Amino acid sequence: MEKLILKETFQQIISTTEVKEHNSKSFDLIIEDAFIGELNSSKNIIKVIVSSSFNKIIIEGQFYSQLNDSINKILQGQYKLIIIDIEEWSSKEKGETTIEDDIANKVFSSDTLNPKYTFNNFVVSEGNKGIFSAAMAISLKPGVEYNPFFIYGGSGLGKTHTLHSIGNKMVENDPNKRVKYISSQEFGTIIYEVLSNKGTNMTEKFEKMKIDYQSYDVLLLDDIQMIQTWSKAKEILFGIFDWFLSRNKQVVITSDQYPSELKSFEDRYKTRFLGGLTMGMLPPDIDAAREIVKMKVESLYDQNIDFFEDEALEYIAVNFSSSVRELEGAIKRVIFWTINEDVEKIGMSEVLNIFKGMTTKKKGVTIKLIINEVAKYYQIPAEEIRGKSRKANIAIARHIVCYLSKELADVSLLEIAKELTKNHSTIISSISKIKKEKDLNENLNKALFDLRNNII
Ligand code: ADP
Ligand code: MG
Repeated sequence: MEKLILKETFQQIISTTEVKEHNSKSFDLIIEDAFIGELNSSKNIIKVIVSSSFNKIIIEGQFYSQLNDSINKILQGQYKLIIIDIEEWSSKEKGETTIEDDIANKVFSSDTLNPKYTFNNFVVSEGNKGIFSAAMAISLKPGVEYNPFFIYGGSGLGKTHTLHSIGNKMVENDPNKRVKYISSQEFGTIIYEVLSNKGTNMTEKFEKMKIDYQSYDVLLLDDIQMIQTWSKAKEILFGIFDWFLSRNKQVVITSDQYPSELKSFEDRYKTRFLGGLTMGMLPPDIDAAREIVKMKVESLYDQNIDFFEDEALEYIAVNFSSSVRELEGAIKRVIFWTINEDVEKIGMSEVLNIFKGMTTKKKGVTIKLIINEVAKYYQIPAEEIRGKSRKANIAIARHIVCYLSKELADVSLLEIAKELTKNHSTIISSISKIKKEKDLNENLNKALFDLRNNII
């Protein structure tokens, strides 16, 4: 392992990153005290230590890939960047553990469950309620009915959260239950380490590993798709899996695909996966997304949700609900933004500012579509919105079109003006009319809400 690199070296690295140019203020602030804690070229890992867990969240959420790219460009390597907050780092330092110890601990330790993920902080929606109740049932009576329980679904929807919740619930019900959670990636890495470490006695290690696994009552296996092409790891894991099933010990598996779609798994594996209960997970609907935002803002950031105006909350729920992870990223971004800004509330204009330049606007939303939706909503002909009529209801519909186009469609004010054959200043005044009016007029608020939903 190479020696510690001085803080200045890291500052040199970041002063040349592209991140700096684009986000100089916020980036400077969080990276100010950062330094490289470890550069391990045999494992291709670079650990960057930051001054608080909050900074860690921000870097991971916003700057991770840019920073990772820059570091690798400058060091001309293929390092994986790991961000660690200083507290975590100093407690590790005191314990003087190494990555090798970490891996060993992972193989032979029982507390791999993350206490942060529980059923209590899991928001139930249409797309996960079946899984939620099956998971609950399994926690209460493991190994009885649904074995294995196979959960599939896209990234960031809550599969890992569900696995840990099951484990935590089981231990809560019966503190003597021994529950093993492991991601397939991690499992594969451990096997790989053993295989590539020529000095060790492999058979003995694998045997030890098997015995260790057999001491558990429940096996929670995350992201099984990751292990598809690692034949040795797959074989060992499947041996363990079989051992569990044959003893009616509960196994829960997650994957990003339905079992039959797992191309590199032999049929005998897939049949076994499908032998219990298989269920798919879907993204949250808007109601659930709103509830998730509320919960995360209050629990993770200790911030009252009243800090968000309804419209802003709505905007986040609508635009980022394709996964829960995306919702979390959006919240992080808002909270981070507030550090440098002196605001009392997060409203629509703040939110639009925060997400400016991000592809939050739904692709395919055009001014034309908005005109049609508004026309349909107010039951007036679309041509009248485009026309010159000064009738009050038409004028309001036109103002709303301007307002929603600015908010939802990826277009400039000039383009809106062109589409409506009005001049630029008329569009600006329409938008500000709605901005003012909507705070006073509950009906208008409701209309905007419905229209947004219809359009997106
Ligand atoms: P996956 O494993 O499917 O990729 P995760 O379980 O890691 O997704 O979820 C991503 C993030 O979203 C986690 O922080 C998790 O706590 C959160 N999350 C996912 N689903 C829910 C939910 N239904 N309620 C609350 N938080 C959730
Ligand atoms: Mg996961």
